Amino acid sequence: MSHILVIGAGQAGSSLVVKLRNSGFDGDITLIGAETAPPYQRPPLSKKYLLGEMDLERLYLRPENFYAEQNITLRLGTAVSAIDPDAQTVALGQETLSYDELVLTTGSAPRRLPASIGGALNGVFTVRDLADVDAMSPYFQPGKRLLIVGGGYIGLEAAAVATKKGLDVTLVEMSERILQRVAAPETSDYFRALHSAQGVTIREGTGLSRLTGDTHVTGAELSDGSALETDFVIVGVGITPETKLAEKAGVVLDNGIKTDAQGRTNKPHIWAAGDCASFPYRGKRIRLESVPNAIDQAEVVAENLLGAAKDYVAKPWFWSDQYDVKLQIAGLNTGYDQVVIRAGTAASTSFWYYKGTNLLAVDAMNAPRDYMVGKRLIEAGKSPDPEALTNPETDMKALLKA
Ligand code: FAD
Repeated sequence: MSHILVIGAGQAGSSLVVKLRNSGFDGDITLIGAETAPPYQRPPLSKKYLLGEMDLERLYLRPENFYAEQNITLRLGTAVSAIDPDAQTVALGQETLSYDELVLTTGSAPRRLPASIGGALNGVFTVRDLADVDAMSPYFQPGKRLLIVGGGYIGLEAAAVATKKGLDVTLVEMSERILQRVAAPETSDYFRALHSAQGVTIREGTGLSRLTGDTHVTGAELSDGSALETDFVIVGVGITPETKLAEKAGVVLDNGIKTDAQGRTNKPHIWAAGDCASFPYRGKRIRLESVPNAIDQAEVVAENLLGAAKDYVAKPWFWSDQYDVKLQIAGLNTGYDQVVIRAGTAASTSFWYYKGTNLLAVDAMNAPRDYMVGKRLIEAGKSPDPEALTNPETDMKALLKA
């Protein structure tokens, strides 16, 4: 095998090429990215970078000259327009490159509001890449009015940054409660209280009907018939896996690019990893949108490209920073029927998701020990008695030995 080509120079793509070199692969590696910046971490885009507390260089996953030093050809500002799986080539506009093995790490794209309801007005932003954040930064001035559409993690993190910077923030969420798709009512309650105390107006069960304005957004009409004025809007209503290239090439999709446990698609010599890929997990098929998944899955695919034949066993975890609260999540709560509360203080607490007697996941707010113990229990398939968890006297570490 002489040439491994990777499409998508984000978290998964860069982790994969680094792992290839660290594993001793000395063939050709090409990493192609549509964005102009070298591979960077996205989480600070809605946290410290947006706040202005982190420099651009610190966002980069590796120093700019790293790739050349590792003899990795990095082609930035270049979108792959097509894949020919039979010829084993990709098209970059007029140019064609051939590959021996191809990996798709194309990530995901934010859902946007349709133009028919004002989604294309100036001053309406999503938070996915550096260009988005650089475009919205000038609006982050004290006293500006910000409307956030969507009460998921991205919307809430943007609300925290904007509030810290003295903006007047309203967040609308069409579901009954913020974080409804991803967390228990207890977690929603915690974050609603946190944001409300900081002055964010949270309107749940309230959808956006349309944004108003001539060329620039100036207001919004909401599903309850009310209207509000705004200076700009951030839309955080989820993402969709970036699968267009794969689909055109005849790669099978299933909630993202469908891979086997080792990262192979249905097409020979084409693999996928990161946000764009769905894979088998405990008898189901899942797709994860997180940095740990992008890194771990990409590294397993790199090993498999070199013949390891290793299954990817996901260990889901995630975090979010809002004000001075660090939320850490371990496991996946899908299908839970009970939430057990381990109360610490009002600010430091954890919520444990059970299905029957099985521990599925934990949300830990400023409770790193609970998170760490929960993660290890879940990975080991251990489920402590809920009563032991609720007892403040319980030594968390002892639960690991039980
Ligand atoms: P990406 O990092 O998105 O990289 C994909 C790259 O592929 C992009 O640069 C794209 O331009 C490129 N590409 C797509 N198509 C083509 C093409 N045809 N040709 C060339 N290039 C192409 N995760 C956490 O775990 N914790 C967090 O706190 C957290 N916060 C986040 C905050 C924000 C604002 C965002 C946007 C994401 C956050 N995430 C967080 C999610 C995390 O960043 C993603 O899960 C991770 O970046 C996925 O990595 P990836 O390589 O699959 O995709």
